[in-house]
Amino acid sequence: MRGLTARLARLAQTLGVAAARCPVCSALIDHPGSPLCPACAEALRPRLAGCCARCGDMFGDGPDHASEERLDESGHESRGPAIICAECRLDPPPWDRLFFHGAYSGPLRDLIIDFKFHGGLHRTRLLVTLASEAFRRGATDAVRTVALPDIIVPVPLHPRRLRERGYNQSLELARGLGDSLDRPVAADALARVRHTAPQMSLDKDQRRENIRDAFAADAGQVRGRTTLLVDDVYTTGATLTEYARTLRRAGAAGLDALVLARAGREPR
Ligand SMILES: [Zn+2]
Ligand SMILES: [Zn+2]
Repeated sequence: MRGLTARLARLAQTLGVAAARCPVCSALIDHPGSPLCPACAEALRPRLAGCCARCGDMFGDGPDHASEERLDESGHESRGPAIICAECRLDPPPWDRLFFHGAYSGPLRDLIIDFKFHGGLHRTRLLVTLASEAFRRGATDAVRTVALPDIIVPVPLHPRRLRERGYNQSLELARGLGDSLDRPVAADALARVRHTAPQMSLDKDQRRENIRDAFAADAGQVRGRTTLLVDDVYTTGATLTEYARTLRRAGAAGLDALVLARAGREPR
């Protein structure tokens, strides 16, 4: 099979036909028009239902994909009535909506790890496509129509990390999203103003304490503007929540958040 694939690729080259390859697994794509091979398209299907509209918390194994019945007469996916989880009813997050592509697992997780830790900037285009689709899908669903944001603000990277990695993955995503939505990116609207311990080793209360007042927002860029806060992954939500609060305090007029992937919730 591999031999055949290679022969086909060579043949395509000889004929001057650019053979399209799946950007995830490099398989040849024989259906022009689809950016991914069928297997990767299936594995990277977006989470369309069974999650909280405010925080993205996913319910059990819940409906992962739009079913036939969810298609309206014009064949468009419809998410039905909004689900807001009990936690968000009691203690809503500082953003109105969290948009995300899917759970932080499987090939989506592999792509993000490659993008983030293995210098995988060549993943940017695909991940930006997933991010802008997540925004467009969420912005036009049944919950409320979300206008395009005035500004897109990436979560900053710690300066030391930035030196090590050479790029901020959230800024790369925000830039791609800015191009796709034709909205400006306020790259330095948020900053880290003091060092924080890694969140991983801390419990929920320690996490909140660890990052309290660690961040600052430039009110001149944020005040009165509707803002889309962008990060790659939502893990515990503590950091994203604190950045969102910082933007609110700086006077952001409206605030939504977008991540590529969301991890399952830990008990709060
Ligand atoms: Zn593939
Ligand atoms: Zn929720």
